[in-house]
Amino acid sequence: MTTFDTAIHLVYLAAATCFVLGLHLMNSPGTALRGNRLSAAGMAAAVLATGAVLVRDHGITVWAVTALTAGAAAGAVAGLITARRVPMTAMPQLVSLFNAVGGGAAALIALGDAVQRSQEAGTPGLQTTITTVLDVLIGGVTLSGSLVASGKLAGLVPGRPVTVPGGRWATVLLALATAGLAGLYLTGRTGALGLSGIGVAALAAGILLTLPIGGADMPVVISLLNACTGTAVAMAGFVLDSSPLIIAGALVGAAGAILTKLMADAMNRSIGAIIAGGYGTGDSAGPAAAVGAGAPVRAITAEDAALQLAYAHKVVIVPGYGLAAAQAQHETVALARALTERGVQVSYGIHPVAGRMPGHMNVLLAEADAPYEQLKDLDEINPEFPGTDVALVVGANDVTNPAARRPGNPVSGMPILDVDRARTVIVIKRSLGHGYAGIDNELYTRPGTAMLFADAKKGLAQLLAGVREYAA
Ligand code: NDP
Repeated sequence: MTTFDTAIHLVYLAAATCFVLGLHLMNSPGTALRGNRLSAAGMAAAVLATGAVLVRDHGITVWAVTALTAGAAAGAVAGLITARRVPMTAMPQLVSLFNAVGGGAAALIALGDAVQRSQEAGTPGLQTTITTVLDVLIGGVTLSGSLVASGKLAGLVPGRPVTVPGGRWATVLLALATAGLAGLYLTGRTGALGLSGIGVAALAAGILLTLPIGGADMPVVISLLNACTGTAVAMAGFVLDSSPLIIAGALVGAAGAILTKLMADAMNRSIGAIIAGGYGTGDSAGPAAAVGAGAPVRAITAEDAALQLAYAHKVVIVPGYGLAAAQAQHETVALARALTERGVQVSYGIHPVAGRMPGHMNVLLAEADAPYEQLKDLDEINPEFPGTDVALVVGANDVTNPAARRPGNPVSGMPILDVDRARTVIVIKRSLGHGYAGIDNELYTRPGTAMLFADAKKGLAQLLAGVREYAA
């Protein structure tokens, strides 16, 4: 091994260390930014080192360098602009788009490599052909599946389960066709053309598998597709014999798989059942204001709500998607601070799928400097509700719906925040409109619940003004 090779291996080792340490730092919102930067620095070093190897081996033409540089620059600019402009509420569909790009790129790497090999003498080893097939298969499913998931979250594709007539049979046929083509490719009886067939079948399967999944199951699907992206990238690493790609892909794949399992457990779903057909219904349910039809709902003024909060001993704030949509995290934390200064014991009850992406609420509240010790997860906060004077629900809906305790509806079995067990509940939202799962919330018609109909940001500002008035 030359000194150059040793140096390159050391850079790859340092890059891998950065990935692992970066992932560890992402454990806490306080260090996550540093973790992100460290991982990005590791990846930049690995890319530069790979470029140096290509130049040393004369394995790259001037045209290729130009194309790579132009592609990398265009991607970097597009990524930077998108990341800066995207609102927090649209982050999940962006993450899903990034998954699609990752999976698609990994599949293209394998296809490109197969085309190049077909022009060279000799047959590739079994390790290369197996990982090539897996790369194209997983990458293709991830590309089309993530595009559909992103479209569902952005409202471009219906959020409800969309069943394609004969879809299940088509999926079985696609699986059989893929297995046949894979067999032909592995035994050397077909080349890049057969591999492209696997790619097309994978793209179709991704669409057919994701379309029937709806509503409340989407978070788990996005996390699963993220795990698939990592796995496809790891396979691309085997195809290219690139250790940084293998390590980075394996880390993303493993982290995504763990998150998928945790989220499925948190929603009391089995991953197999979600993929096999899903429970969620998205926007298929009846008219938006159906709760109000018949059952009485008690509205409350901001002044009365502020009075209740100011004279409470214990308040639990439950944030949801509406808080993110209104960008009301700063008002929420300011209200919590004002209450704490009055001697009220304040906590935040965070549901694992509140909002539209894993960890959505934690990220928003951390951005507004909510003290970490006040952020409590579902298991920690639920036993506290019976001793809570006021549960203040801010733009959360499905994650508080007592209907989840009964079978036969889209949120059945999903663990909820037991706000209905608090002495009183105040819900801030604009109307009696549905949440993501598209069903009525029985909480709103319960005797202990009062509705403060307002945009979250405005409603919280009124509450803060009211609490300050009573504190004076
Ligand atoms: P929901 O989607 O159930 O409800 C959000 C509520 O916010 C709506 O009912 C809406 O009512 C209200 N709202 C919207 N805008 C505002 C505003 N500006 N001010 C005040 N309120 C507003 O949210 P939850 O957080 O309770 O539940 C999350 C749901 O999303 C779950 O079903 C989950 O499965 C799903 N999901 C979660 C993902 C994740 O990873 N966390 C990813 C994808 C889906 P109104 O219009 O009346 O104001």
